[in-house]
Formats: sequence, structure tokens, C-alpha cells
Amino acid sequence: MSRDALFGAENAPSIQRCESCGAEWPFTLTANSCPTCDGLLEVIHPHPTLHGAALLSRFGSRCCTHQGSEASGVWRFRELVMPGEGAVVSHPEGNTPLMHRASIAEYAGVASLMLKHEGRNPTGSFKDRGMTAAVTHAVRTGATAVACASTGNTSASLAAYAAQAGLPALVFMPEGKVALGKIAQALAYGARTLIVKGDFDDCLRLARESSRELGVYLANSINPWRVEGQKTIVFEMLQQLGWQAPDWIVLPAGNLGNTSAFGKALRELHALGLITKMPRVLSVQAMGAAPFAHAFETGFTTHVPVRAATVATAIRIGDPASWDRAVRVIRETNGAVLAVNDDAILDAKAVIDAAGVGCEPASAASVAGVRAARASGLIGANDSVVAVLTGHVLKDPELVVQYHEQMRPVPPRANTPIPIDATVAAVARVLQRP
Ligand SMILES: *Cc1c(COP(=O)(O)O)cnc(C)c1O
Ligand SMILES: [Zn+2]
Repeated sequence: MSRDALFGAENAPSIQRCESCGAEWPFTLTANSCPTCDGLLEVIHPHPTLHGAALLSRFGSRCCTHQGSEASGVWRFRELVMPGEGAVVSHPEGNTPLMHRASIAEYAGVASLMLKHEGRNPTGSFKDRGMTAAVTHAVRTGATAVACASTGNTSASLAAYAAQAGLPALVFMPEGKVALGKIAQALAYGARTLIVKGDFDDCLRLARESSRELGVYLANSINPWRVEGQKTIVFEMLQQLGWQAPDWIVLPAGNLGNTSAFGKALRELHALGLITKMPRVLSVQAMGAAPFAHAFETGFTTHVPVRAATVATAIRIGDPASWDRAVRVIRETNGAVLAVNDDAILDAKAVIDAAGVGCEPASAASVAGVRAARASGLIGANDSVVAVLTGHVLKDPELVVQYHEQMRPVPPRANTPIPIDATVAAVARVLQRP
């Protein structure tokens, strides 16, 4: 792949290019899709003025910064996210840990398994990395309000960043289908939380129409700037690994925005010569919401949306928006897609939680996916693997309590609460149990 296709001239402004017809649009376009053909837009940055080791050492020099936007794990890489001057709306975000836990590695069957915990972002999910870029773009292009349709982490994140920017946020949520931790955040951060009499598709349509007719900036998953921000999960992970790429990067997949972002990040790093080995991307879906995994099995000759059903609400998506982009990523990285069932997700989550790490259900799909891929031989015992934990354990407290207290039959790893009399003798009896 030629680097000309991936980057513009040094010192040129970033542009947005249509992935379907190739039309190029200026930085200031806020349409989210090509005004000519409605295709998805991709951001093209100027070629960085620093090259190779000099660029890496610039990124490295910002790691110890505690002031200004470069203290952020997103804006530290701004040459590859959103170069140029102007306001930055940053919490800061990113700077998430890369962790090893023997119990989780053993469970997955891969000795060198590392966990990149994106639940340690300001609102508890990786969505913050995309949202800092999208809301910054909104501010730089003069937006007066921002909006998204989402039942979960996207709303929580948009609400927080809009509050910081002083912009009104409209969050469209389908009536009766919103997880507790996530609606709590949207309300707390002050978004105008619109409960729509309809389903998620109605919310999406309403958000799009409001954006078009009322001039509201739309921060949905196809927003090209969110992709730019989410690329930094890969940049930061590789920086933590001394720019030595692992054999595999594994992540849960719903709308496929993150899979697309990971691929764009790897493509750019490779074109700039900053990595020599391409890690293989493994996207993991929930069995009840696995159109992309089914298509992978046919070499992507099929594309059949499904009616999605899974406990992992963040990946409960039957018709992923960033399909074509993600197909390209799996092909370019010699990657793979697989599906794991809800029992496997809950079991992996219980192992991650019991290690004191914790994550939301969708996140556990990545570790469940490593375990399944190891069992089938796709991942080798000596392969180096980074699995991304996408969200925080407190996002879905209802499901945690259900798993440990109410689920029947009692799951193998349930940690059932113990009712006792108010005596030290009763406490002593509990301590004596194996
Ligand atoms: C959004 C989200 C996902 C899915 O990411 P996509 O880009 O939609 O594939 C997975 N886990 C969590 C916690 C999320 O918030
Ligand atoms: Zn176009």
C-alpha cells in the first residue's frame, strides 16, 4: 500500500475522503457521510513532519506530561488524530493500563496474555477516546449542539464531553431498553435525555434527521473523527510494548467501529514504518449477535443482518454500521472473526472480575474469544496476545448481582452472599469454610 494514499502532503490540512466515490471534503464538513453518494468518510492527515524514530520519541516525550492536552493518551498522538491548532476538549482520557494476571492468562490458555483495560477511561469505556476527538471537531467547526442515538456507553461519553465543552447534548434512547449505569451517567452529566417511543432504529433515524434539519452535530459511530480517536488504543498499547507488535490483538465487536479503528491505526503505523510486523486482529461477537462472524465463515461473500439477542448489551447489534471497513481490516491483517455464547462470556467475566480486574459483559467476550481460539488452535500457546477490555465492571451492576445471587441453575463461579446472625461466632464459621 502506498503511503500517498494514506497521508496527504506535509503541513496540508486534514481532509475527509469518501470511501465509496473517492470525493475529498474539507476538515469543516460535518455531514458524517459523503454529500455526493452517502458513502462513509475517512480522515486523511498530512504526512507527519517527523519520521521514524524521531516521531516515536516525540510521542514518548509526552508520556510524562501532566499539563495540557498532550497529557491525554489520545492527544499525545495528535499528529495521527487531529493535527493543527485549535481548542481541544480533553478530560484527559486514555493512559489506560496494560495488565497481566496469571489467573486470566491460565484461563485463556495463553501464557503471555496482556489486558488493555479501556474501562479505566473517564466515563468507563473506550468511547471516550473517540468522543474527545468528535467533540473537539464539533467545537472547531462551530457546532451549537451535539447528538447521538445509543443505549449505552456512547451516550454516557457524549454527555460528559458536551458538558465539558459547554454544548447542549441530545441523547436519543429507546424507551425501556436502557441499562441502569449508562442512563444514570447521561442524566448525571446533564444531557437532554430523550426517551423515544420506538426502537433503536427509530432513535437513529431521529438523530440523523435532527442533525440534518436542525444543524445539530452528530456523534454516531460512523463519525470519522471517533475512528481517529479510537486508533489511539492501538498506538498506546504498542507504545507500552516498546513498539513491538504482538501476534494478536483481540477485541469485542458490535457495530465494528472499533475493529475499523484498529485496522486504520495498524495500516498507518505500517505505512510510516513504525511497526514492521502486522498483528492479526481477532474480532469476537456474541453468538446471538454474530452477523460478521457468520460472514467471515463464507469469506465475506454473504452479509445477512440478524435480530440480535445477548446479555452483552454493548455488542447487541444485528446490522453493524462499519461493515465494509471492518472486512478490509480482517483481510489486511490476516485476522479472524468468531462468536462465543453468553455462557462463555459470563464465565470469562467471572474469571476477570474475580481477579480483581473487572469489566462489563461485552468486554469479557475478548477473553472468551482468546480461550476459544486457543482451544481450536487458531491462537498458539506461545503467541503473544493483547485482549482489550472495553468497559468498566460498574456499567452493568444489575447483571453482576443477577449472576451471583439469582441465576438458576447457580453458575459455577457464583459468589453467593451469605446471610448470618449478628454474632462473631457466625463470622468465625464463615471463615472456617474452605
Ligand atoms: C461500543 C462498545 C463495544 C463495541 O464496539 P463497536 O465499535 O461497536 O464494535 C464493545 N464493548 C463496549 C464496552 C462498548 O461500549
Ligand atoms: Zn462519495
